[in-house]
Amino acid sequence: MNCAACHNEMVKKKGSIDLRTGGKLYIVKNVSYEECTICGEKVLSPEVSQDLFDKIRKKQFVEETFKVPVLDCANPSAWKQALQ
Ligand SMILES: [Zn+2]
Repeated sequence: MNCAACHNEMVKKKGSIDLRTGGKLYIVKNVSYEECTICGEKVLSPEVSQDLFDKIRKKQFVEETFKVPVLDCANPSAWKQALQ
């Protein structure tokens, strides 16, 4: 399979990926995917994504709470202060 963004050949990998759907962010662990070695684009096979969407629909996931660092670039002066 080739990358949709840069048409480079992708390699099969297994690990964790971010999945954003329905306004929610899911962390998918131990999943097989293909990754572009040039731009880092990650793609799930149709079978895997179908399986994931089924799991989401049936709520077959655990909810974990963890802190996510959020960077807001709307206020440049705050950046300047933080970097001083
Ligand atoms: Zn690529």
